[in-house]
Amino acid sequence: MAEKHLNFGTLAIHGGLSPDKTTGAVMTPVYQTSTFARESVDEHKGYAYSRTQNPTREALEKNIAAIEGVSHAACFGSGMAATDAVLRLLSPGDEVIATNDLYGGTYRIFKTVYERYGVVFRFVSMHDVKNVRDKINDKTKLIWIETPTNPMTNIIDIAAVSKAATAHNVLTVVDNTFATPYLQRPAELGADIIMHSATKYLGGHSDVVSGALACDDDSLAVEIKRIQNTTGAVPGPMDCFLTLRGIKTLHVRMERHCENAGEIAQFLQQHPGVESVHWPGLNTHPGHHLAKKQMRNFGGMLSFSLKEDTLEAAKEVLNRTKVFTLAESLGGVESLIGHPATMTHAAIPKNEREKAGITDSLIRLSVGIEDAQDLIADLKQALDASVNK
Ligand SMILES: *Cc1c(COP(=O)(O)O)cnc(C)c1O
Repeated sequence: MAEKHLNFGTLAIHGGLSPDKTTGAVMTPVYQTSTFARESVDEHKGYAYSRTQNPTREALEKNIAAIEGVSHAACFGSGMAATDAVLRLLSPGDEVIATNDLYGGTYRIFKTVYERYGVVFRFVSMHDVKNVRDKINDKTKLIWIETPTNPMTNIIDIAAVSKAATAHNVLTVVDNTFATPYLQRPAELGADIIMHSATKYLGGHSDVVSGALACDDDSLAVEIKRIQNTTGAVPGPMDCFLTLRGIKTLHVRMERHCENAGEIAQFLQQHPGVESVHWPGLNTHPGHHLAKKQMRNFGGMLSFSLKEDTLEAAKEVLNRTKVFTLAESLGGVESLIGHPATMTHAAIPKNEREKAGITDSLIRLSVGIEDAQDLIADLKQALDASVNK
């Protein structure tokens, strides 16, 4: 299929895919096999062993490349395995510049695994690209962006950072988990590698853990595939099938996530118990204009802090919601509520956490695709009860 001209929804469903060559199955079969018969010593049908390549995984990889608008993708057993594969491009002494408002697990792999191997990490606030430029030196190999950031929903200018990086031959990596390619396509903005926790919006149903890398550069793709095959953190065929099935509805789900998040953000803003609301769609959000420029819509993730900025006050709310489930993770059809300081971001030291705005009362929502009025009613009863205590 000639795909470049197709729109996102069509690509999500058909991109990189064709009916199964042997049976005509319209939906990609689950090739639950570790190995493939050879036709002779010198010939096989393109598959030899499922760590190296499996047809179900290959279909998912082509589909993710298509929706990101690039030539290559490689899938992994988790988002962290995908991140790990990027970091394996580095050598001792190499430097990485990363945003200081980072997914907790990414911070943890930087600090507790790769720092021990001699990779140097420099954390900066990326709201101003000058902070990035100031840290680039001849050892800098990688710039790690997450936007919108987790959980503060700060917006980083991907085009500006990529431009600064490219001028110094530095690779830019964008963790596109929160935005998804439906809302933001980092490669079009100059990024070199796109990383996903496909566990979240791509899979979209909280039933699989998986990850992906996408890139447009042929030699970089060969290197990533070499690392994928050598270190072996590949997803199983069933997980690839589930992720692929999830992506088919990505555009429809994202529209509803965004719409619901917008309604909830407005509700929270006027609630007397709420101090501040962080959602890029609000025109009071510092990254609103940039988000408008580099994203199609503003996403389903938001966070807010309470007037009473204590752990106890946050717990009052967290323990009271009934439609919002108190759980880690995000990006599924169901709404989740979480507490960054004690859950997702517990690995980050308190003083660094608070510098980034992750105070004790900060609450994060992954707004699902239920009916907005039920979600608002649920938050209202939880917040009212905590205010009136
Ligand atoms: C969840 C997440 C990851 C890690 O992905 P896993 O699939 O849990 O390994 C990385 N980045 C972001 C932004 C995430 O939300």
